[in-house]
Amino acid sequence: MDIEPLGNWIPISHQPFIISGPCSAETEQQVMETALGLAAIPQVKVFRAGIWKPRTRPGAFEGVGTQGLKWLQRVKKETGLLVTVEVANPRHVEEALDHGIDILWIGARTVVNPFAVQEIAEAIAGHDIPVLVKNPLNPDLKAWMGALERLNQMGITRLIAVHRGFSFFNRTPYRNAPMWEIPIELKRLAPNLPIIIDPSHICGNRELIPATIQKALDLEMNGLMIESHINPAKALTDKNQQVTPAQLTEIISKLILRRETGGVEFEAKLETLRSEIDKLDEELIDILARRMNVVQEIGTYKKANKITILQLKRWNQLTRERIEAGIKMGLSREFILKLLESVHEEGIQRQIDVMNSDEP
Ligand code: PEP
Ligand code: MN
Repeated sequence: MDIEPLGNWIPISHQPFIISGPCSAETEQQVMETALGLAAIPQVKVFRAGIWKPRTRPGAFEGVGTQGLKWLQRVKKETGLLVTVEVANPRHVEEALDHGIDILWIGARTVVNPFAVQEIAEAIAGHDIPVLVKNPLNPDLKAWMGALERLNQMGITRLIAVHRGFSFFNRTPYRNAPMWEIPIELKRLAPNLPIIIDPSHICGNRELIPATIQKALDLEMNGLMIESHINPAKALTDKNQQVTPAQLTEIISKLILRRETGGVEFEAKLETLRSEIDKLDEELIDILARRMNVVQEIGTYKKANKITILQLKRWNQLTRERIEAGIKMGLSREFILKLLESVHEEGIQRQIDVMNSDEP
């Protein structure tokens, strides 16, 4: 993808780069008070507010609609912040463009649908406006990339991916599971693409937000989109996850900004430790290969004696013993179990291959 570096189009004077504002614009006063509070935070460069809200069930507050665009114009004029709104169809795009909105964003519920994304991309084509693309609700990296590519193909080069977590069938402490491996893989596939995180929708509550932001920064994410409301308790949407501008200031003050590299001495020490890791990994792979060879030999022996592959009693006993040994060495139960399961799965596959082979 042909991507314009973030620093070329937003003057980032203070780290981290922040987009903030209420989940929903509710009243002109709420919008203005929140915006004035946020404008005093040097990291905040863009003001967000949803005016067309995608709601799971009808009857809930669906946003103030077009009148909210006027309030955003006022924010822009009186605070100097750039402004962004969520667009979910070509009509939203047209109205946002007519009102001089600076940046558009496409929400998680829209990104799941390639038809919707394509229609929006076509409506934006020819207009020189940056777009934020949230990840789809489900952990589907291809759909996320696909949406970014559809926009890029329409000539939009000022793009930012927004990681807002994924719906997950298991109960987790998060509203949307972060599954960090997905944004990390996106970074690997599209190294020039800026990726920011939306800790509000990942966490679903204020308490988890600071640690989640720190983790994102440690993973070299490029900034934040965080919901802020002048009075979160009275918010009409997402009240548990919004922070006041004062709380945001406090959160920022406690963040640790780490550098990607340190001086020569630091690099030398790091190099020594890394070569130690390389050596250990080599040994680890060697041991795993040798273990698999023994497993294969057992498979041949079982085949010759017409014995089944899966021996549950042996597996249960082995798991128990290894977990106990691992815990004694300071490794967690979850880690050992995951490792054993993966090794076991590969071992079973080896033995299946032996059983299916023509050799005796
Ligand atoms: C939002 O940012 O308010 C929103 C609706 O987010 P998402 O599309 O990530 O659910
Ligand atoms: Mn929200």
